[in-house]
Amino acid sequence: MESVVAGRPGNGNVVCDLDGVVYLLGDPIPGAGQALIDLDTSGYAVLFVTNNSTRSPETIAARIEDLTGYPARPQQVIGSAEAALTLLKAGDGPALVVGGAGIRQAMEEAGVQETDDPWAAAAVIVGLDTSLSYRRLRDAAIAVRAGARFIATNTDATYPTPDGLWPGAGAMVAAIEVASGIHPEIAGKPHPPIRRLIRQRLGPGPVWVVGDRPETDLAMAKAEGWVSVLVLTGVVGGADEIADGDEPDLVLASLADLPEALQS
Ligand SMILES: [Mg+2]
Repeated sequence: MESVVAGRPGNGNVVCDLDGVVYLLGDPIPGAGQALIDLDTSGYAVLFVTNNSTRSPETIAARIEDLTGYPARPQQVIGSAEAALTLLKAGDGPALVVGGAGIRQAMEEAGVQETDDPWAAAAVIVGLDTSLSYRRLRDAAIAVRAGARFIATNTDATYPTPDGLWPGAGAMVAAIEVASGIHPEIAGKPHPPIRRLIRQRLGPGPVWVVGDRPETDLAMAKAEGWVSVLVLTGVVGGADEIADGDEPDLVLASLADLPEALQS
């Protein structure tokens, strides 16, 4: 596997969150694309790491380019669905899915079969499911109660959009947790499975983590000893909303301000 993902490496790595940092739903954050191009050309290796499990790395890379103009490659993208599948081996399963295409593609690549039968499921993998039904929730809870492994891609409470904060995967995980009485294993930020995937793809030099969510992005940076950068374009609107002890190393209004901040 290539260890250096982009740019003319040498200055270090920028591990960039997506929702609330690069875009909000279908709207790019103003200046984000140019900032990514500037980081690339000034020698930072850029990696996109998202807890969103609804899309594959290929689809996410295309979406970054469509929305911002920055030509992201799938190898630069790590999602929580891939991280979740590192908890299973080929042939494990079958798994019942609460979620979308991102989880299903990661399962296919990992060699894990899908089932809709709660009594046949050896695992339940949960992410954001925008067409979640009571029936699917019921079957997931039945499977977990019956002993299937309960794997959450992430537990983000909300999903930032231009219309405010919508329910995130964490809301769906919580419903299954309450209904089954069992806690999930969690794959995404700030937990170890996704951190292991990131470490495997970092180039040499320091690591800056840019994110909008303190309990995932900033907590991950802290756990790894990486530099944390909070941007105010997502779930947090002001530095005063951060709990004492959780303060990032740097607060920026937007990703657009990062290239200049790294030069100083
Ligand atoms: Mg985010």
